[in-house]
Amino acid sequence: MKTVYFDNAATTQMREEVITSMVEVMQNNFGNPSSSHGFGRSSKSLVESCRKEIASYINATAGEIIFTSGGTEADNLILRSAVRDLGVNHIITSKIEHHAVLHTIEQLEKEHDLKVSFVDVDSNGNIEYTHLETLLEFKANTLVSLMHVNNEIGNILDLKQVAHLCKENGALFHTDAVQGVGHYNIDLQDIPIDFLAAAAHKFHGPKGVGFAFIRKNTGLKPLIFGGEQERGLRAGTESVHNIVGSKTALKYAYDNLEAEVENVKGLKEYFVKEIKKAIPEIKFNGLSDDLEKSTYTLVSVCLPVHPDKATMLLFQLDLKGIACSKGSACQSGSSKGSHVLAEILSDEDMQKPSIRFSFSIYNTKEEINYVVGVLKELIDS
Ligand code: PMP
Repeated sequence: MKTVYFDNAATTQMREEVITSMVEVMQNNFGNPSSSHGFGRSSKSLVESCRKEIASYINATAGEIIFTSGGTEADNLILRSAVRDLGVNHIITSKIEHHAVLHTIEQLEKEHDLKVSFVDVDSNGNIEYTHLETLLEFKANTLVSLMHVNNEIGNILDLKQVAHLCKENGALFHTDAVQGVGHYNIDLQDIPIDFLAAAAHKFHGPKGVGFAFIRKNTGLKPLIFGGEQERGLRAGTESVHNIVGSKTALKYAYDNLEAEVENVKGLKEYFVKEIKKAIPEIKFNGLSDDLEKSTYTLVSVCLPVHPDKATMLLFQLDLKGIACSKGSACQSGSSKGSHVLAEILSDEDMQKPSIRFSFSIYNTKEEINYVVGVLKELIDS
């Protein structure tokens, strides 16, 4: 059966070069980086060279990169330690953040005397910057947590503007950049972000590995206790092959960024044009048909389908070999609707099926033709 993978915001296929680099490490560098013999020293030196190289792609220093098991752990480490160890007693966030952030903050609220403010989001999924300014006036030890690229609707936050607003108001700034790192240039010398979370599997790297950028001298403390790995900030033997895979994936992402952005953006542009032609009543959630204001990797559509038919649609697409997502992958197995779409869509549109299609360099226009054809057929039937 023909299969099409349009769920690259959930996870991406690993690059061949990433797999090769990981296999090589698994065969040749099995030493524990904490061991003082030659096997250990060789693994340690690999981990440290990856840290340095990864840091260089986002203009950070090696000491500011802490490897984690992925984006969720990086978000947890940053948010939980900021409240527990830095005296943060006010978090400003939005209702359209990923659950790795929202559920962590909910838990922190139960454990600490913490005030949580939600910045207004308009019907296109844009953060209201003037409301953020007002919230920042609240006199407290504040941390702002806003994501770089929204994983469900693709809106892009102006990191520089928010980072400067935070600095002007003495607030810390954390950004979940899981959908941004490897897809956009981020210069952490230029933008005063305090904390950032990234995950390798979103940029053609391995799953179960990511990193937290923690700006020098911020004083975060570990969540996981044990050994002295990761400068004492994250205990546990380093996943050397995963770290090497992350470095290789980020290297290829940034070495080829311009050409690959053009390629994937071209696919999105073609998808938007073709689907509008095939299904003229289609609506785009947020700004996801906007090629500049929304990420080039994804499109979120609201289909003109009766609610009775809605639940069957993803299932029918799956039967046709098409992988895409209702809301985000973390929810696709659950009956709950998307908390992001619930914030921005009318009740009527929430009854209709919304689907996220997300693209990568491994997709083609021919696949788009197939998917658009199948969607039209299903809707007309
Ligand atoms: N934040 C965002 C925006 C994401 O898209 C994801 C992955 N769905 C995560 C955090 C969680 O990352 P991980 O799967 O690496 O834990």
